[in-house]
Amino acid sequence: MFNKSQNSKANSIKPGMDNKQVNEINEELRLNENLNKIKHSILVLSGKGGVGKSTVAANLAVALASRKFKTGLLDIDIHGPSIPTLLGLEKAPLQATANNTIVPVQYNDYLKVISVGFMLPDNKEAVIWRGPLKYNLIKQFLSDVEWGELDYLVIDSPPGTGDEPLSVAQLVKNPTGAVIVTTPQNVSTVDVKKSITFCHKLNIPVLGVVENMSGFACPHCGKETFIFRKGGGSEIATEMNVPFLGTLPLDPLIVENSDAGRPFAQSATVNATASQKHFETIITELLQIINSTEA
Ligand code: ADP
Repeated sequence: MFNKSQNSKANSIKPGMDNKQVNEINEELRLNENLNKIKHSILVLSGKGGVGKSTVAANLAVALASRKFKTGLLDIDIHGPSIPTLLGLEKAPLQATANNTIVPVQYNDYLKVISVGFMLPDNKEAVIWRGPLKYNLIKQFLSDVEWGELDYLVIDSPPGTGDEPLSVAQLVKNPTGAVIVTTPQNVSTVDVKKSITFCHKLNIPVLGVVENMSGFACPHCGKETFIFRKGGGSEIATEMNVPFLGTLPLDPLIVENSDAGRPFAQSATVNATASQKHFETIITELLQIINSTEA
């Protein structure tokens, strides 16, 4: 969690300061107040796009909320915000309070969501923003959103190691750690090494690697077939000395449910599908790792 002593800069409004300086200090103060109420922040990263990072982030948030953890999901994938679609929240309106803060969209009693997608007039709109603008937007999402007390804030970062993950890593100050999503193929595993190195350089603990699209789960019989090579994610985790959280198969039901705005992690576990069972293993492993870092 964020260290209260880091509030000191925010308390240093002095006579003679101009409005810009005072506003900056007030914003820092709001940021620190918000961060102090968040027990754990988890960045979901990937080396490249299309590996299922947003799918994992959305389902992670939904799974935490279904365990009755107070959860926030922040989508800072500015150029491709897919969280509104994945959660069926495309038309959700964002509301402001009288104090000009933003009220997050309430997905259910335990999950609050903010995405840049809520601010775009339509999902075909391209966002062309340079670094400083992105930094300010991410800062606002952390400081001016009424997150309240949270057990977990899951942050869906854009792929790669560019402005957004860097901004969020700097702004969150002491994230609990990062979950890195990859596919088993070589090109993706090479990219994931860059994400791990990025975390090491910024002192962000790597909570673990998820190998997505690992084998094909037959929607009829549930049997898994390995179309691509298997084990790229676990090999990389071993090589880079970071935990391996588990695999998630390539599953047509995931595509169908994602397109329909139904995260698969929220469905009943009584007749759990192969993907739901795999995801259960991933989240159990992740929570154990987080608990062990607290002990
Ligand atoms: P990223 O955030 O890495 O760009 P997404 O989470 O948006 O990737 O996923 C890209 C596409 O792949 C989406 O259509 C999603 O439904 C699909 N997808 C993700 N994971 C799986 C999976 N395990 N099985 C089948 N399709 C998947």
